[in-house]
Amino acid sequence: MLAQHPLTALKGVGPKQLEKLQKLGLFVVQDLLFHLPLRYQDRTQLVDLNSAIIGGEILTEGTIFSQRLSQGKRRSLLVTIQSPSGKLLTLRFFHFYPRQAQQFSHGRTVRVFGELRSGPNGFEMVHPSYEFINTQNPAPLETTLTPIYPTTEGLGQASLLKLIQQAITLLKQYPLAEYLPPPILDALQLPPLNNALLTLHQPQATDNLLQIKQFKHPAQHRLIIEELINQQATMQQMRAVEQQRHAPVFPPSQLCNALLTSLPFALTQAQQRVLQEIQQDLKHPHPMQRLVQGDVGSGKTVIAALAAIQAADAGYQVAVMAPTEILAEQHLHAFNEWLKPLNIPIAWLNGRMKAAEKRFMLAQIKSGEAKVIIGTHALFQEAVTFYKLGLIIIDEQHRFGVHQRLSLHEKNRNKEIHTHQLIMTATPIPRTLAMTAYGDLDLSVIDELPPGRKPVETAVLSNEKRFEVMEHLYQRCKQGLQAYWVCPLIEESELLHAQAAEVTATQFSDRWPDLRIGLIHGRLKGDQKALVMNAFKAHQLDLLVATTVIEVGVNVPNASLMIIENAERLGLAQLHQLRGRVGRGSKQSHCVLLYQSPLSQTGKARLNIMRHTTDGFKIAEEDLKIRGPGEILGTKQTGGLQFRIADLKRDAEWIPVAKEWAAKMVAHHPDLVKGLQARWIGQKIDYQHA
Ligand code: ADP
Ligand code: MG
Repeated sequence: MLAQHPLTALKGVGPKQLEKLQKLGLFVVQDLLFHLPLRYQDRTQLVDLNSAIIGGEILTEGTIFSQRLSQGKRRSLLVTIQSPSGKLLTLRFFHFYPRQAQQFSHGRTVRVFGELRSGPNGFEMVHPSYEFINTQNPAPLETTLTPIYPTTEGLGQASLLKLIQQAITLLKQYPLAEYLPPPILDALQLPPLNNALLTLHQPQATDNLLQIKQFKHPAQHRLIIEELINQQATMQQMRAVEQQRHAPVFPPSQLCNALLTSLPFALTQAQQRVLQEIQQDLKHPHPMQRLVQGDVGSGKTVIAALAAIQAADAGYQVAVMAPTEILAEQHLHAFNEWLKPLNIPIAWLNGRMKAAEKRFMLAQIKSGEAKVIIGTHALFQEAVTFYKLGLIIIDEQHRFGVHQRLSLHEKNRNKEIHTHQLIMTATPIPRTLAMTAYGDLDLSVIDELPPGRKPVETAVLSNEKRFEVMEHLYQRCKQGLQAYWVCPLIEESELLHAQAAEVTATQFSDRWPDLRIGLIHGRLKGDQKALVMNAFKAHQLDLLVATTVIEVGVNVPNASLMIIENAERLGLAQLHQLRGRVGRGSKQSHCVLLYQSPLSQTGKARLNIMRHTTDGFKIAEEDLKIRGPGEILGTKQTGGLQFRIADLKRDAEWIPVAKEWAAKMVAHHPDLVKGLQARWIGQKIDYQHA
C-alpha cells in the first residue's frame, strides 16, 4: 500500500533526501503523488519573438549572432541570437565554463527555454536552458507539459521529478483506493482518482493543456472536490457529535420582555429574526453552536444581552468574552445598563484589577453569586472556576482564532453537560468561506442596520493632499466634531507602528496647540488605553491619533470623521472595520482614505470599492477575490484551513458542491469518509481532537 510505503524504499532517498522531503510534508510514497506541480512549462511549441510577451516563459529558436563577456557589476557571458523574423534576443549567463562560451559560435542554431525579460539591449533571458539544433534534422519538441514541483532548498527539480516518476510507476502497479462513489463522479463528470493523478503529473499532448495551466482541468477539480468533501464531512461529523451532547434548557424569560420594553428603540427585523433563532436553540437540550454575523453597528450587543438574560433567568451563569479590554469594558457598560435593573448580578475580570478586587470577583463567580461574567479571554486562561456555566458568548470572534474556539470545546469535552455557545463577529464572511471556516456552526446574519444611520461618505485621495485634509480636519474639530487619524502601517511591527503614531501625534500637537489630541496604540498598557478612550468618549479630546488598535468595537457616536493614511496597505475588510468606528451617531460621517501615490490601477480600483459601498459582505467578497481568506479571517483563523490542493479563493464555487455531497457520504458511506480522512488528514491534523 502506497500509504504505508516509506520514501526510503525509493531509489535515491538517503537520510539527507528524506529530511528534505519531510520538510515538504512528504512522508510516504503516496504523499509524492499528492504533491502536485506548482505549474507547467510549455515546451511543446516554438514561439517566435515577434509574438512573445515579456514576462512569459517561452521556447524559442534563433541563430547565434554574436557573443561577448560583460565585466559589469557581475561578470557575465552575453550571447545574442537572432530569430527567423529578425528579432534579437540576448542570453545572459552568470555562471559558465570557458568551454561553454566556445560552443556558442556564430551561425549555430540554438533552442532556448526561459523567461523573456526586457534587458538593456531589448529581449533578454537569464540562464535559459538551451540545446543546439541541427537545422536539417531538428530534435522533436516535447509532447507533454513539463511539470514544475514545489521544492525546497537542497532538493533540485530534477531529483524530485525522478522520485515522483518512481511513485507513478508504483501507482500503476498499486492503484490507490477510490473513495468517491460513482454517483459523485458521474454527476460532476470527474475522472477517477488514479487517472487524475496521472494526468496531472504527466499531462499528455491530447489533454487540454490550457485548462491544466489555468487549474481548471477536471483532473484538478477531481482532487479539489475530494479534499473539500473530506473537510466538509469531517466538520459535519464533528458537529453531529457535539449536537448529541446534553446542554441545559433555558425557557423563554419574562425578563427579556422587560428589557425589550425598556429599550429606547425597537429591534430591527433582522435582530428579531436572529434573536428567535437563538431562543429556539436555547430551548433544546443540546448545545447551541451559533455564529452571529452582523456588520459594525448592526446591534449585536443587545442580542447577546437578551441571550444572557434567558440563561441567567434559568439559573445558569454566562461568560461574555471580548478580544480586548477596551471592548470588554464597553460590554460591561452596556450590560450594567440593561441587566442591573433586572437584578441580574454582573462580575468582571480584567488584567489590571487590584488583587483584592480580583479575589472578590473570583469568589462571586465560584459561589454562583455572579450570573453574568464579562472579560477578555483571560476568563478561560486563568484559574476561574464557574459555579454553573450554561452559556458562553464570544464577541468579535475573528480576533480569537479557530484554535481558541476549539480549545473551548475541549474545556467542556468531558463534562456531562455542555454549554451553549454564541459567537458574534462583525467581519462579514462570504458564504463559501463561512462554510469552510465555520462548517460546524449554525449561521445567523443581522443584515440590517438600525434605522436612521447615514452611510459614511468616503473619499479616496492621494497623499499629496495630506495637507489640505489636515486643514479640513482642524476646521471641523474647531467646530466641535471629533475625529480619528489612523496612522500608516510601516511594517508589521507593533513597535514601528506605535512610533509612527507617536510621530504624527507630536506633529499635530506642535501644529495645533489649541486642539486636544490623544494617542492610542498597541504598546500602551491596558489602563493607559482605557484612560485615553474614556477621555475621547467624554469629548475631552478632539482628535485621536491611533494605530489599527481602534479597529474593533470602539463606540464613540460623536466621532464623525476618520482619516486613514496609507490605506492602500490595508485589506478592504480591515478598512471596513476601521471605517465602522464612525457613522455611529446621527451626524453625517466622513472617511478619507489617503494613499501613497503612485498607486496602481488595481490599487485604486480596490480603494474605490470602499467609496461605492458600505455593505460589508460585498467588501468581503471583493477582498476574498483579491487577497484570499487570510485577510478576512485574520491569519490566525486560517490555521485549520490549510489545504494541500484546494484554494479557498480559486475554488470557492466547489465548496457548496462539496458540502452537499459530504452530507450524503456521511449518511451513506461512513466507511469511505474514514478512508478520505486517513488520506487527507492522516496524522497531520486531527480535526476530531484538535
Ligand atoms: P455592533 O453590532 O457593532 O456590536 P452595537 O451592539 O454596539 O453594534 O450597537 C450599536 C449601537 O446601536 C448601540 O448604541 C446600540 O444600543 C444601538 N442599537 C442597537 N440596536 C438598535 C436598534 N434596533 N435601533 C436603534 N439603535 C440600536
Ligand atoms: Mg460589538
